[in-house]
Amino acid sequence: MSTPTRSFAAQSATSSLAPYTLERRTPTEHDVAIEILFCGVCHSDLHQVRDEWHNSVYPVVPGHEIVGRVTKVGSSVTKFKQGDLAAVGCMVDSCRKCPNCLAGLEQYCNSFPVLTYNGPDKHLGGMTYGGYSEGIVVDEAYVLKVPENLNLAAVAPLLCAGITTYSPLRHWKVGPGQKVGIVGLGGLGHMGLKFAHALGAHVVLFTTSPNKVEDAKRLGADEVVISKDAEQMQAHAQSFDFILDAVSADHDPNTYLNLLKTDGTLVLVGAPENPLPVAAFSLLPQRRAIAGSMIGGIAETQEMLDFCGKHEIVSDIEMIDIQQVNDAYTRLLKSDVKYRFVIDMASLKK
Ligand code: NAP
Ligand code: ZN
Ligand code: ZN
Repeated sequence: MSTPTRSFAAQSATSSLAPYTLERRTPTEHDVAIEILFCGVCHSDLHQVRDEWHNSVYPVVPGHEIVGRVTKVGSSVTKFKQGDLAAVGCMVDSCRKCPNCLAGLEQYCNSFPVLTYNGPDKHLGGMTYGGYSEGIVVDEAYVLKVPENLNLAAVAPLLCAGITTYSPLRHWKVGPGQKVGIVGLGGLGHMGLKFAHALGAHVVLFTTSPNKVEDAKRLGADEVVISKDAEQMQAHAQSFDFILDAVSADHDPNTYLNLLKTDGTLVLVGAPENPLPVAAFSLLPQRRAIAGSMIGGIAETQEMLDFCGKHEIVSDIEMIDIQQVNDAYTRLLKSDVKYRFVIDMASLKK
């Protein structure tokens, strides 16, 4: 049993997103049915629509920054009732048995988590479909509660851009007394900047876009460096405890490794299509480390949302209708977003 649901989908790596009717399962006893009100536009949506990670199965209905209202709950659901606000991020399930799932690290499930879109759908077969749609049905164990005091549309990007930057900042214990770099002022970067600032670090924002300097300061940067300016970069040599790299395209990580002090760490959260070159002699001289981090677990995502509620942190958004999403992708590729596109899902009915 399933319900026809309006959405926008890409039918191939070269086609634009266009209207598509998908099927959502009838809620089981553990499921929550959600009317999607807003969905953020992540650069990962663009990577997958265009098959830049070489694993897309079409049609792709992207979207993993989902907020909305509960319309129906299954008989065993305890966390939600009809009418509640609810949110869904990048995962809708995982094996629930492996050591990582049991430790609340579902994003590192040894069988790989079931992603919100372009993951194998255990219920209906085929692939999962994401949030560029009017509704979604998800097991309550993978549904988040939304703080009531925040602007709902501006909460949507927290479900990916928020948790993806919050998780490594917490894991590497960023806090007062540390010098922290954030590379790239896009959707992830601007959230990383807000969180690093809220956690009390001295934050330096690296950007290729001189027109973002004032915004970066307003968003919490203590200093802003134009990364194409070798002199400005050199002034920060060997001085950082931690740098978070949120760049979506090819770039040189060695320039950032060289800014780390002894035992400093560069963490990649950006996921460019091509491998990045890392020189041994960027790492050896100061015992530097390079690492990666992927979204965050369910409990940590809830912790992040609660942190945002307490500190009144949301994303800076540009609201769009779903019919504008292809233009939004074009702007993402020009680093021209301030600082996250969010789709008003009511526009699906236009
Ligand atoms: P975005 O909003 O498009 O921001 C990317 C930023 O990177 C741009 O605004 C730009 O910042 C900078 N940039 C772009 N091209 C560049 C280039 N050629 N050289 C240097 N800097 C460049 O993207 P996003 O949604 O934040 O996502 C960023 C990346 O993270 C994507 O690859 C995405 O797939 C990945 N991601 C990973 C995870 C995870 O779990 N690890 C989760 C979500 C997304 P400036 O204008 O300031 O230079
Ligand atoms: Zn994302
Ligand atoms: Zn698992």
